[in-house]
Amino acid sequence: MVTEKMNPDRKVYGTYSNRDFNRPIPEFEFPEEGMAARAAYEMIHEELNLDGIPELNLATFVTTYMEPEARALFMENAHKNFIDSFEYPQIKKEEIRIVNILSRLYNAPENTEFTGASTIGSSESIMLALLAHKWNWREKMKKQKKDVSRPNIVFGADTHVVWDKFAKYFDVEPRVVPLDSKTLVADPERLVSMVDENTIAVGAVMGTTFTGAFDDVGKINALLEKLKEEKGIDVPVHVDAASAGFITPFIEPDLKWDFRLSHVKSINVSGHKFGLVYPGIGWLLFKDKSDLPDDLVFYVNYLGNDMPTYTLNFSKSSSNIAPQYYNIIRLGKSGYRRIAENMMSNARYLGENLGKIKNLEVISNADHIPVVTFKQKSRDTYDLFELSSAIRSYGWIVPAYALPADASETVLMRVVVRESFSRDMADLFLDSLKKAMDSLSGKHVKKSGVSPRKGHPVS
Ligand SMILES: *Cc1c(COP(=O)(O)O)cnc(C)c1O
Repeated sequence: MVTEKMNPDRKVYGTYSNRDFNRPIPEFEFPEEGMAARAAYEMIHEELNLDGIPELNLATFVTTYMEPEARALFMENAHKNFIDSFEYPQIKKEEIRIVNILSRLYNAPENTEFTGASTIGSSESIMLALLAHKWNWREKMKKQKKDVSRPNIVFGADTHVVWDKFAKYFDVEPRVVPLDSKTLVADPERLVSMVDENTIAVGAVMGTTFTGAFDDVGKINALLEKLKEEKGIDVPVHVDAASAGFITPFIEPDLKWDFRLSHVKSINVSGHKFGLVYPGIGWLLFKDKSDLPDDLVFYVNYLGNDMPTYTLNFSKSSSNIAPQYYNIIRLGKSGYRRIAENMMSNARYLGENLGKIKNLEVISNADHIPVVTFKQKSRDTYDLFELSSAIRSYGWIVPAYALPADASETVLMRVVVRESFSRDMADLFLDSLKKAMDSLSGKHVKKSGVSPRKGHPVS
């Protein structure tokens, strides 16, 4: 979204000495006339060169590399509206295949129809999953003639912002458990102690965005089983596996976090994170067909046929579906495992070497997913926000941020090691980091980046 009123008199000028285009156009008003395709293309293309370089963006979990074949499939399907499955039944078939493949990967029981959907990303998946749980809760309460006016949802402060967004948009009271300052996730006991009969669901995260740590889903599940046994309160768990869903099944297959656990009723995963597809795709899976209330499914009558849909949006491009299926058949489990192991080993290499740098302390070093976080051991002449800006001048994008309560005194930097981050790049990054730290530690540069000699730029 945007809330900025810009000056209508501002102009933009073409590049390449206006070869095809010799007058400026208003920047913030619809131009009266058009221009040559080449001129428009060049103008936009050149301007966008000033964006950060995606491969050097160590802040993001989201895919920046696909093979040329996957890229070709991306473009070949961009102009098919995914909702039109009667016109484009083949791309729909790939969604059905992937929902089946992921349901089985997450150990959904075979005695049900696999139920799930492709989405725009984990955020849409999470909202749809929680909406289903809200609906199920309300039906259950209505049957028992109980009050349905005060639903709540329990999750840790280690969750992604979309959980707060859901609570606000869908009018559900958020019960947020502060971060345990040791484990940096929500303490399962504390989490389950906040559950009552108005709780629509409990959230668990597989790979927090803060440190990459995992909530203890097994423990949460055991505590909920106990609660059900003792008090008859039966609450589903939604597992947010946005980042781990394409990692853990391959490298830690024995870790039980998925539909093998009794209370886990829905899971989301971002296809555009370690599913290795360009941005714009997520997956939502339900354990059982009955976990998605039929009341929420809309049957779109399109050209005389009824098609079930469960989405927040309507039209979207089909471009991400085919590359997702491509990756699955091209890589297989062994390919995803190999890539995950490479990323983990590169991340650990980076973590080990970060730990050797003076005054840096590694907080998490690829424990489950290839994320490395580190902090300053003691207060330096500069902080990590300044280091984050300084390293940007070498092209690297690495965020610095404070953890949520109760660990908010901790400021971290985080590196997400993706497939495109090689061992060689780790060395280059370490080198840039040391240089940035040297320059910040005071001798010739002041914090403002301006030299002591009155306002002369630093050379
Ligand atoms: C990235 C992420 C999200 C949001 O996912 P999108 O696919 O970007 O919508 C939610 N939860 C977690 C844990 C994430 O890492």
